[in-house]
Amino acid sequence: MSDTLIDRRNFYINGEWVAPAEANDFEVINPSSEQACAVISLGGEADTNAAVAAAKAAFPSWSMTPVEDRIAKLEKLLEIYGARADEMAEAISMEMGAPMALAQTAQVGAGLMHIKNIIRALKAFEFEQPLGSHSPDNAILYEPVGVCALITPWNWPMNQVTLKVVPALGVGCTMVLKPSEVAPLSSALFAEMIDEAGFPAGVFNMVQGDGMGVGTQLSGHKDVDMVSFTGSTRAGVAITKNAADSVKRVALELGGKGANIVFADADEKAVTRGVRHCFNNSGQSCNAPTRMLVERSIYAQAVETAQEVAEKTAVDIAAKEGRHIGPVVSETQWNKIQGLIAKGEEEGALLLAGGTGRPEGHETGYFVKPTVFADVDPEMTIAKEEIFGPVLVMTPFDSEEEAVAIANDTPYGLTNYVQTSDNEKARRVARQLRSGMVEMNGLPRGAGAPFGGYGQSGNGREGGEWGIEEFLEVKSISGWNEVPTE
Ligand code: NAD
Repeated sequence: MSDTLIDRRNFYINGEWVAPAEANDFEVINPSSEQACAVISLGGEADTNAAVAAAKAAFPSWSMTPVEDRIAKLEKLLEIYGARADEMAEAISMEMGAPMALAQTAQVGAGLMHIKNIIRALKAFEFEQPLGSHSPDNAILYEPVGVCALITPWNWPMNQVTLKVVPALGVGCTMVLKPSEVAPLSSALFAEMIDEAGFPAGVFNMVQGDGMGVGTQLSGHKDVDMVSFTGSTRAGVAITKNAADSVKRVALELGGKGANIVFADADEKAVTRGVRHCFNNSGQSCNAPTRMLVERSIYAQAVETAQEVAEKTAVDIAAKEGRHIGPVVSETQWNKIQGLIAKGEEEGALLLAGGTGRPEGHETGYFVKPTVFADVDPEMTIAKEEIFGPVLVMTPFDSEEEAVAIANDTPYGLTNYVQTSDNEKARRVARQLRSGMVEMNGLPRGAGAPFGGYGQSGNGREGGEWGIEEFLEVKSISGWNEVPTE
C-alpha cells in the first residue's frame, strides 16, 4: 500500500476501532483523478456478527435511557459535526466528486440541518399518548424497534446517514451502519464524531462492506429487527426478499425519475432553474427533475434556453473552488450514463447539448458532458430509466391532462415539480401527481417535511416526525391509569 493513501481499514464496533476479522482491502477512488485516495476493508460475516451482537447487547439499556439524555448526546453530536464541517466537506468531495463549494454547503449542510430538525422533532414527540377520551385507561406507547441495519448510498452521503442514524439514536434503537463502499470516508469520520460525542459502547456500530457481503449479511440477520435502506430499486428488492424470512421491518428510499411540468404561464426563470436543478450534484440525486415537460406554446423557447444553460455549465475537478459541476462518482456510473446517452441518440431523440465522451480538457476523471435531449418520446429509454448523470430530457405537452399522464407514467414516484403562476392549477396538478413529494415554483420543502416516495421509489418517509415514527413500534396497553379493585 502506498503511504499517501488514507488508511480507513478499521471498523467501529462496540465503542472501539477494530481491525477486520480478515483483511480484505478495497481502494477508494477519487473520481476527479481516477486514482486511489484511501483504502478501507470490506467486512465479512465475523465483522457483521460482532457489530450486530454489540448493538443487541446495548439495546436494553439504551432503549430505557430517558429521551432527554439521548437528545443531550445528539446535541453534543451536532456541536461536533458543526466544528468538523470542513473535514467532512473534504471527505465527501474526495470520495464522490462533489465540488468543494457544493460539499461545504449542500452536502455537509444537509447533515447539519437533519441533525437539528430531528432533535427538534424528538423534543416535540409524545412517546406516551392516551388512546382517547372514550377509553381513559388505555395508553399507546411508542417504543424503539430494536437493532437496525442502516444501509446508505454514495450520492448524498451525510444527508442519508443523518436521516437514519439520528432518529434511530434519538428513539432508543441501536444500530449497524453500512455506508456505500464507494463513498465510505465521510461515514468513517461520522463514526469518529459519534465516538467523540460519548454514546455508550455498542449503540452505534459501523462496518464497511459491499452489498453482496455485509449488506446481505445484515438484511438476513436474525438479530436485526429493521433495515432502513437508501439506494437503487434493484438493491431495495434484493434486501426486501432477503429480509422476509426473519420478518423484519424494511424501510426503502429508492430511485426516481421526476417530472418537471412547465406551463406556459410559468415564471421566466423556470426553465433555467429546472436545468440547473437537474445538473446539480452532476445529476446524481434521486429527486432530480430529469424529465422536463413543457407546454407546447413555449416549448421552442424552452428548448433554446435549456441548450444555453447546458452549454454554459462548467465541468471541473472537485477540489477546485467555483460553481462548476464535478465528475460522476465512478467508472461504472460513467459507463452506464454513456450507454444511456448513446441509446437516446439511437432511439431518435434530438441531442441539443453534450453527448457521449468526456468534455474537452477532461480526458481523465469520470466527467460527463452536461447533456440535453429534446423531442423525447415518453416511451424512449431515456424517458423511462433513471440516468443518474447530468442529462435532461425534454418533452412537449398540449394539455394539463396530458402533462399529468406523462408525469405519472413511470414506476417511480419520488418528487415531481410544477411551474405555473396559477395557484388553482398548481394545486389541482399537485393533487393528481403520484409521488411522495411535489415541489412548486422553485420553493423548497420546509424543514422536517417528510421525504419519501410512492411505487418503486420506496415505502419509507424520512425527516420530521415521520422519520421518527419509522424507527418505532406501537404498543397498546390497557389498565395504564387504573389499578384493579378486586
Ligand atoms: P446501490 O443500491 O447500488 O447501493 C446502495 C447501498 O446498498 C450501498 O451501501 C451498497 O453497498 C448497498 N447494497 C447494494 N446491493 C445490496 C444488497 N443486495 N443487499 C444489501 N445492500 C446492498 O445504490 P447507489 O448506486 O449507491 O445509489 C444510487 C441509487 O440510490 C439511485 O438509484 C438513487 O436514486 C438512489 N437514492 C435514493 C434516495 C431516496 O431517498 N429515495 C436518495 C439517494 C439515492
